[in-house]
Amino acid sequence: MSVPTGAAEHLDAEGRRRVRIPPVLMYHSVSPSTGPDPHRVRVSPELLDRHLRLLGRLGLRGTSLGELLAAQERGAASGLVGLTFDDGYADFAEHALPVLARHRATATLYVVAGLVGGRNSWDEGPRLDLLDADGVRAVAAAGHEVGSHTLTHADLRGLDAATLAHEVGGSRAVLQDVLQADVPGFCYPWGRFDAAAADAVRAAGYDHACVTGDRLPGDRFTLPRAYVAPGDGAALLLARLARHRWWMRGVDPAPARGERAEEPGPRRGRAGEGGR
Ligand SMILES: [Zn+2]
Repeated sequence: MSVPTGAAEHLDAEGRRRVRIPPVLMYHSVSPSTGPDPHRVRVSPELLDRHLRLLGRLGLRGTSLGELLAAQERGAASGLVGLTFDDGYADFAEHALPVLARHRATATLYVVAGLVGGRNSWDEGPRLDLLDADGVRAVAAAGHEVGSHTLTHADLRGLDAATLAHEVGGSRAVLQDVLQADVPGFCYPWGRFDAAAADAVRAAGYDHACVTGDRLPGDRFTLPRAYVAPGDGAALLLARLARHRWWMRGVDPAPARGERAEEPGPRRGRAGEGGR
């Protein structure tokens, strides 16, 4: 791991254009439950509320990733922080939506399109309900972005082209059918990706995609995020924001929508901390 320095720091090791974006926070389940949480995916509604209040005191407003990138392209993203919620847990509707509304924030919810109305079968441990189609539509109707998190929460690394297209493009088709609207955002399950997976996301017509982990800046299809752990207090949240600013030093602003970065080269994904 190295800190970017020098004149070419807007390009990554494979020559892709890194994208400067404001910090993007990664949440999963939002629930007052006190049951087992072995994968550390749950924050309480009160903690989410405290986080958004802290952001407000810093002059920052939470926004969906799509809105964040659009604002960045207009040069208007300085007061924004991206908010993302992975997996499409049913508790988002009951416990996250009211908190987001209270803070006039929007978010991106990444839905496992083949498990809408089902449960988190990809994980060992406690079974959590996922939003059904009506719930997904309600989230979009409330002004939030719905993105794809594949059909089955698949680890995309090393998959053959047909399976990749099925998981990546097929999930977009399912969600667009549910929403009757464009689905521009994608999120790699567990943050795991390789060059073929990122290319499949581009080929499927997505506009942007994010990984897990707040590491070196990625390109438009490997945007970094900061994992928020259960119980993270103000000091940790501030540290994550500061770390993001450090990683983004000297990186060019986001290229215009649809602009192709340089041709991709071989690239290995990094498992993000706590990413599901
Ligand atoms: Zn996930």
